[in-house]
Amino acid sequence: MGCGCSGRGLPQRGGGGKKKKAVAVSDRTYAAGELVGVLTTEPLGRVLDYKAPEGGCGDGDFVEVPLGPRRVLGVVWGKGRGDWDPSKVRPVGRVLDAAPMRAELRTFLTRAADYTLTPLPQMLRLATRAPGLGESPMSRRVYRLGGAVPNQLTEARHRVVEALRAFGGAPVTIGELTDEAGCGASVVKGLVKLGVVVEEDAPRDLPFALLDPAGAANLAGDQVAAGDALVAAVNAEEYSTTLLKGVTGSGKTEVYLEAVAECIRLGRQALVLLPEIALTAEFLKRVEARFGARPAEWHSGVTQTERRRVWRMVADGRAEFVVGARSALFLPFQRLGLVVVDEEHDTSYKQEEGVLYNARDMAVLRASVVGCPVVLASATPSLETWANVEAGKYGRLDLSARYGVAQMPTMGVIDMREANLPANSWISAKLAAEIAARTLRGEQSLIFLNRRGYAPVTLCRACGAQVGCDHCDARMVEHRFLKRLQCHQCGATKPVPEACPTCKVEGKMAAVGPGVERMAEEVQARFPDARVAVLSSDLFGSARELKAQIETIAAGGADIIIGTQIVAKGHNFPLLTLVGVIDADLGLQGSDLRAAERTFQLMRQVAGRAGRAEKRGAAWLQTHQPEHPVIRAILGGDEEAFWRAEAAERRAAGVPPYGRMAGIILSGPDVQQVFEFGAELARRDGPLRRIGAQVFGPAPAPISRVRGRHRVRLLVKAGKLVPLQAALAEWVAQLRLPANLRLAIDIDPQSFL
Ligand code: ADP
Ligand code: ZN
Repeated sequence: MGCGCSGRGLPQRGGGGKKKKAVAVSDRTYAAGELVGVLTTEPLGRVLDYKAPEGGCGDGDFVEVPLGPRRVLGVVWGKGRGDWDPSKVRPVGRVLDAAPMRAELRTFLTRAADYTLTPLPQMLRLATRAPGLGESPMSRRVYRLGGAVPNQLTEARHRVVEALRAFGGAPVTIGELTDEAGCGASVVKGLVKLGVVVEEDAPRDLPFALLDPAGAANLAGDQVAAGDALVAAVNAEEYSTTLLKGVTGSGKTEVYLEAVAECIRLGRQALVLLPEIALTAEFLKRVEARFGARPAEWHSGVTQTERRRVWRMVADGRAEFVVGARSALFLPFQRLGLVVVDEEHDTSYKQEEGVLYNARDMAVLRASVVGCPVVLASATPSLETWANVEAGKYGRLDLSARYGVAQMPTMGVIDMREANLPANSWISAKLAAEIAARTLRGEQSLIFLNRRGYAPVTLCRACGAQVGCDHCDARMVEHRFLKRLQCHQCGATKPVPEACPTCKVEGKMAAVGPGVERMAEEVQARFPDARVAVLSSDLFGSARELKAQIETIAAGGADIIIGTQIVAKGHNFPLLTLVGVIDADLGLQGSDLRAAERTFQLMRQVAGRAGRAEKRGAAWLQTHQPEHPVIRAILGGDEEAFWRAEAAERRAAGVPPYGRMAGIILSGPDVQQVFEFGAELARRDGPLRRIGAQVFGPAPAPISRVRGRHRVRLLVKAGKLVPLQAALAEWVAQLRLPANLRLAIDIDPQSFL
């Protein structure tokens, strides 16, 4: 250990000697007793000094060190500082049996921490999210379904069987199983005795099957040039960012998988980020078809055992291809050769809790540190990316048409001012006729409404009061499925009240406005013979169930699908030929800086779900403002014109991507105190003024109370090229934060709630 060796255990493939532009590893080793700095995942302000253990250690080694009475995980982070009483410096406990963290990843974590103004230990935590990092590979006890399942099972035993089925045959540990089933270990043991469940020893951390990149690509039309360009970028083994733009169905995935193939041929590792894990099923099948085996998966739906395996194999260079959620960016790749961010405009790439980072931007950062290409794929790129292309910082490849016979859907508006609908119905006669025609032909229709639940507002018809959350400044949303009202901010629920909480009159509470659950009611009433499916993230207990539902629908298991934005994301429903948007104006109402951009992207994405096979699709937008420039841009399809107009507006206003922003969110139990602290910060704006930045606020956040804490926002606006982070750090450091207040800094905020 401690040699800082890189790339050990990598499958040997052609081109192994070609490493010219890989990052220089400047790892030092330290003899026993020498002072080393260790970064731990504990919230401490600094790297701590320790003595190198017996046998020495090296930069990047994962170590266990004593901290007070505990032993904590850390990484050797350079030389010790030597500013600590030498008699008090303790030795490193032990060096863990894991490949050392490469200099490249340490640099990335440091830069990401600087950029997002996150304490480094918190960043390190993102890179060490694997259980049992310190344990050596050995066998472990696992459980899976064995023989026949008897009909008569106790409730608890039945849950164990259901849990094992939910894992889809994958062997799991006792902890995972009892967690999922919500029972004790004795229930499982009982089933083992019965022979229903099999208990066995399985080897830990098996390497992933080698992928076969040899298969010939059949790229066609402008896919060929795009594929060649990306393959060349991978071969260059240096940093570059390329926007791969093409309408849904144009073959972006097909094209970037060729770059992945080249990466694997070179013996380097590839990472593809996807915004929704629910979509990975289809993606994984495609990878398997192309490369003969599945890639490693990294996201919250992966079992602990599998997480550990993936982390290990990535670190040992024995996972060639990882498909993951944003946190996969923090995996310990040995020779990262390509990063793809699919659906790069997707807002879920921005982590809004804990460490506030945008995975798209961090992907670019990591690639630039490693020296490898990044591909940003989208049909509707973010304005940030579009502007970087315009500025010449990113390359751009276009796929102009759908692959094969599939055509883009025709698009039209339905003017709801003329629809004359009866109360509590939202589907216009025109849209209903379109749906009826599809159902007759055995084709699928999608009704899109970006609102979960049954009704967004519950109101008393006697006094007009609305039911709000007890802990937040938010209305409660009725969920019939749960038979309760729910707060979409904090998740609190309560029953729908019989009597008005304000005026106490009984029987007057009414649901106002539609959510997807209510749409399902209307659809079922109007099309009694149709099979209706609702796709909304909250209707499924787990990502696994959602995945199964998506597959059922794709196979033709529903005639009419009602969905929230979850359906807008890259899923392929071959029988779907009609998309109806219930309230196309929904996203345009806010004052959000990105309202136009988001609506444009969402509507084009949703429309793109229609007609992905032979039959041409149609998309209809129900709107009250058919003349709105954004609605017209969506219909007109002249995307470049839309981006240019949007860019001009943002440039004139000096807002992102032509200026920079940072949000400061203060929260605490006492509204007065939070405001006063915010006002004091705003007064001391010297460090900001010095870089020409302005501070706005304090103002109550749009959601001014969450979980009983009052929230206040400040917004900092700065020029594009100023050292914003340094100024922000200096600014907030002027005041000591009282113990009951929390302060979060959100660099490049995406959401202003
Ligand atoms: P996108 O990622 O742009 O939405 P996909 O790569 O998913 O597009 O392609 C859409 C569909 O067309 C997929 O079913 C894909 O398999 C098929 N396809 C695209 N290009 C080709 C090609 N060159 N050869 C065969 N099938 C292709
Ligand atoms: Zn709440």
